[in-house]
Formats: sequence, structure tokens, C-alpha cells
Amino acid sequence: FIPLGVLGALAAVAAVVWLSRRRLSLRGELATAVRRREFHMHYQPIIELDTGICVGAESLVRWTRPDGSHVRPDLFIPLAEEHGLIDALTDQVIERVIDDMRELLVQDRSAHIAINLSAGDVSSGRALKVLAAKLAGTGIHPQQIWLEATERGFIDIQRARNTLAVARRTGHCVAIDDFGVGYSSLQYLQQLPLDALKIDKSFIDAIGTDSATSPVTSHIIDMAKTLGLFTVAEGIETPAQLAYLQARQVEFGQGWLFSRALPPEEFIAFHHQRLQQ
Ligand code: C2E
Ligand code: CA
Ligand code: CA
Ligand code: CA
Repeated sequence: FIPLGVLGALAAVAAVVWLSRRRLSLRGELATAVRRREFHMHYQPIIELDTGICVGAESLVRWTRPDGSHVRPDLFIPLAEEHGLIDALTDQVIERVIDDMRELLVQDRSAHIAINLSAGDVSSGRALKVLAAKLAGTGIHPQQIWLEATERGFIDIQRARNTLAVARRTGHCVAIDDFGVGYSSLQYLQQLPLDALKIDKSFIDAIGTDSATSPVTSHIIDMAKTLGLFTVAEGIETPAQLAYLQARQVEFGQGWLFSRALPPEEFIAFHHQRLQQ
């Protein structure tokens, strides 16, 4: 006879062991995937909210394993960060984005593509050099590449500040990503050289609900305006959310209301259609 509490504890231990073994095997697979370049990009249209025009896209990395299954980026990006694989992964992202979007960006000078940088990329500044080398000779203007820097895991504000300052001097537009979910305080934000603020989906979800979060959404928009930053709302799913954001003069947005993230050719087709409207 084993008491229930002990059984529960054993089950918990088994679950932890199973999870950590799964992570361990995923880590090994991820290292192989980086070597074999098993990544590609999808592009989620970014819309100018008062005109409905597609002004560009956010690039989002996708990992398809050899057996055809997909691993979500919010699972493997943190793993890549933890295990020193993020540099190599970001290099591949940059390479893919420029190869996929070169033609569109040269044809349409008003279009931009956003690239996500993780905390490691922002600290080291290496990604900027890789990007500059990749852009050389393509005819793409640095202004057409926006950078989304996450505030999760920013270790060294001084280094982050340097990297972002270099990015802006180069001509890139710099946005702070997932704003509101991390540690960001007004004071912290004021120390970073930024152009834009991306409002995390959780704050968009709260619009029109009686959740305690919904006044925070309004506050975040005010804060961006006070700091002279423009705003991009992510995860817009309903016309009511869109109407609210338009009324609050949020400049740009993305979300399933407009489009999911699309493979390169589908995004290019979407962009051309949106331009004609
Ligand atoms: P994120 O930067 O906040 O990206 C937005 C996420 O929200 C994307 O998930 C996107 O597909 C999803 N999304 C957009 N609109 C909607 C909507 O209307 N409803 C819902 N439910 N979801 C929506 P995804 O592609 O799974 O990416 C997850 C996270 O992984 C990203 O969050 C970003 O932090 C990270 N990530 C993705 N690609 C890259 C990359 O190339 N480099 C780095 N460093 N991180 C990346
Ligand atoms: Ca992002
Ligand atoms: Ca985001
Ligand atoms: Ca987010």
C-alpha cells in the first residue's frame, strides 16, 4: 500500500523527468536543425490602420522537422537562447528574409520587413554586422528593415543601448517588442533609443472586455505618445479591437483579422493586392 501523496509526488517527479528529457532531445535536434538549415520564414502583414494599406510584414521563423512536424518558435527560440544557438539561428533568419524579400523591397520603397532580435542578439550587436553585410549590394535601404528587440532578458542596458543606437544610425527603425509583459518601466524605456513600441497581444485581447487589463492598454498607448514613439498593435482579431485602436490613433497593426503569417509568395501576393485598394 502506497499513500496517495507519495503516488502524487512520484507522478510529479516522473513528469519532470519526462519533460526535461524531451527538452534535452529537442535541444539535440535543434542543434542539428541549425546545422542543416531546417528553418524558413513566414510573413505576417502589417497594416496602416487608418488606410487599411499593407505597409510590410513581420518575419516569423518556422521550424519543420524532417518528419514534417512543426515546432513552435516560442518553444525553440528560448531553447536556442539558452544553449548558444541563437547567433547561428539569427544569421539564418537574416539571410532568409533578405533572399525572400529582396525583389519586393526593391520594387516598393515604402515597404518594410521587421526582423525579431532576441536579447542575446541585442547584447552582442553581432546581428547588425551580419545584416549590414547581407544588405550590401542588394539595393535594399536600411530604412526598409525594422528591428523588433525584445525586452525579455535584457541583461546589460548599456550594451542594449549601444546596439540600438547603432541600428538607428544605420537607418533601421527600432521597436521594442511585446511591450508591457516584461520589466519595462517608463524609466527603462526612456534610456533606450527607440522609434516604436509594439503592444503585446494580451493588451489587445483585453480591449472591450471588463478585464482589469483593459485600462492598461489605454495607458500604454498614452505612454508611447508621451515618449514620441509610434505604436504597432499585435494580435488584432476583431473589428471592435480595430475600431478602438483606430480611435486611439494607433498607427499600425497586425493580426488574424487581416491575415495570418504567410509563406513568402503568398505574402507578396497579399501585399500587391493591398496596394491597389
Ligand atoms: P511575437 O514577436 O510577439 O510574434 C507575434 C506572434 O503572435 C506570432 O507567433 C504570430 O503568429 C502570433 N499572432 C499574430 N497575430 C495573431 C492573432 O491575431 N491571434 C493569435 N492568436 N496569434 C497571433 P509565432 O509566429 O508563433 O511566434 C512566437 C514568438 O516567437 C514571437 O512572438 C517571437 O517572440 C518569437 N519569434 C518568432 N520568430 C522569430 C525570429 O525570427 N527570431 C526571434 N528571435 N524570435 C522569433
Ligand atoms: Ca515580434
Ligand atoms: Ca510581439
Ligand atoms: Ca507577443
